[in-house]
Amino acid sequence: MAEIKVIVAGAGIAGLATAISLRQLNSSGHNFNVHLYERAPELKEIGASIALSPNGLRTLERFGIENALDDNISYRGPSALPMIYRHWKTNEIVSVDQFADVPDHRHQTARFHRAHLHDALLQHVPRESIHLNKETISAEADSNGVTLFFKDGTSVNGDILIGADGLRSKVRTTFNPDHKLHWTGRTLFRSTFDYSLVKDIPDLPPDSTHWWGPKTTFFASRLGRNMYTTVGSFDPRDYSKEDPESVRWDQVADVSPFKDLYKEDWNPVVKALAEATPYVRLYPNFAGEPLASWVFGSRVTLIGDAAHTHGGSHAAGGSLALDDAWALYLSFKQVLATVDPGQKPTSQDIHQALTLYDNTRRPHTTRLINGVLGSANAVNPVTDEELRQRMTGRASTIWLTEHDVNAAFTKVLQDEGLIPSISESGTGPLLQPRIQGQSRL
Ligand SMILES: Cc1cc2nc3c(=O)[nH]c(=O)nc-3n(C[C@H](O)[C@H](O)[C@H](O)COP(=O)(O)OP(=O)(O)OC[C@H]3O[C@@H](n4cnc5c(N)ncnc54)[C@H](O)[C@@H]3O)c2cc1C
Repeated sequence: MAEIKVIVAGAGIAGLATAISLRQLNSSGHNFNVHLYERAPELKEIGASIALSPNGLRTLERFGIENALDDNISYRGPSALPMIYRHWKTNEIVSVDQFADVPDHRHQTARFHRAHLHDALLQHVPRESIHLNKETISAEADSNGVTLFFKDGTSVNGDILIGADGLRSKVRTTFNPDHKLHWTGRTLFRSTFDYSLVKDIPDLPPDSTHWWGPKTTFFASRLGRNMYTTVGSFDPRDYSKEDPESVRWDQVADVSPFKDLYKEDWNPVVKALAEATPYVRLYPNFAGEPLASWVFGSRVTLIGDAAHTHGGSHAAGGSLALDDAWALYLSFKQVLATVDPGQKPTSQDIHQALTLYDNTRRPHTTRLINGVLGSANAVNPVTDEELRQRMTGRASTIWLTEHDVNAAFTKVLQDEGLIPSISESGTGPLLQPRIQGQSRL
């Protein structure tokens, strides 16, 4: 079996999911050897709450990552509603999000501590394939292969390069230096802590709840493993003039301004939750225009936040990264069905797979980014009536949270004539077998 060496920058959720997805191709006789190069010196508990929507949870199941699906690791509220919206002052329920078609409890929106989700994925990736303290600074690629260069002066070669190095991806800036990030005008205060700190607050809602006020919002939810999260939305300072490269997520911040935000006129539940919050970290939200392509040359692509720079909006990043990885798997499976496992895929084969992946994922994430950038300058409601109208008139995000990545992939195959469209008869074949002896680069 010819080895296909894949080098991945970053071992976050997208990087781990990439390794899991490509290694699954080995069951059809191929030999994907995937290595992840992560900047962090250790894989320790980091981040705050992260939500997975039905689309991401269904993809976890497709990957066989059962350990991330049950209620031991994440939290789902008793109402089986993804989100409940309450009035900031009166605490009354003004609006709710509902599932369109999610009958299986395990596919209903789940809330994790990010580190627990990361750890659940990590259990499916061989430890020796993760290389820590490897900060990518640049990359090179041609039709014969790819190279990643690290800050410590070393480098590594491979057949395929995947940038899973997050929002401020060095792989993206290497191949697309003109792409810029912008502050969206929103910064989140986030905290995760033990549920015991808040469990006795009178009238604490058991479901994930988003309180909306005229200028700011407050989110609170139980998480898996008896944890709790509080999230405040505030603009403590203007990041618009700062270099996006130098602004980090997860900065430790003073908790007093967070508590002060929710003192006056907020309902007693929110006041008590803010008061009980032991610390906060700051998450300035940066986003960037959609990319024109995720494929650079024939052997390089991006995945996760590196590919779609939507910032933290809609809590979509984890689920999107998982669906990206699944689309990558489907794309290689499709193309390699006609490639003899005894031979390396050609650069055309790789390019074809990456193009299928790009065509499956980029239009979907472009829609999200355009929405995020379009709403950045929304004006605060002035009257209570306007606030309520805004809450009840929220655009549905079911197209995002219940997105069917398999259907999107099938549509791409149909559009490209690789399988018949629904109006045509029968089930389509895979790609036409390659003519024997065709050249391999
Ligand atoms: C520290 C941290 C905390 C987060 N906390 C939350 C949270 O609380 N809630 C939430 O909803 N989302 C959080 N996220 C984002 C969320 O994980 C992602 O939106 C989503 O999971 C998609 O993941 P990703 O792998 O594409 O990107 P990320 O999760 O950003 O992962 C990127 C990975 O690449 C590594 N990396 C970055 N640059 C380099 C480089 N130059 N060379 C090598 N490795 C590099 C990073 O260390 C990280 O491990 C956090 C991300 C990070 C990095």
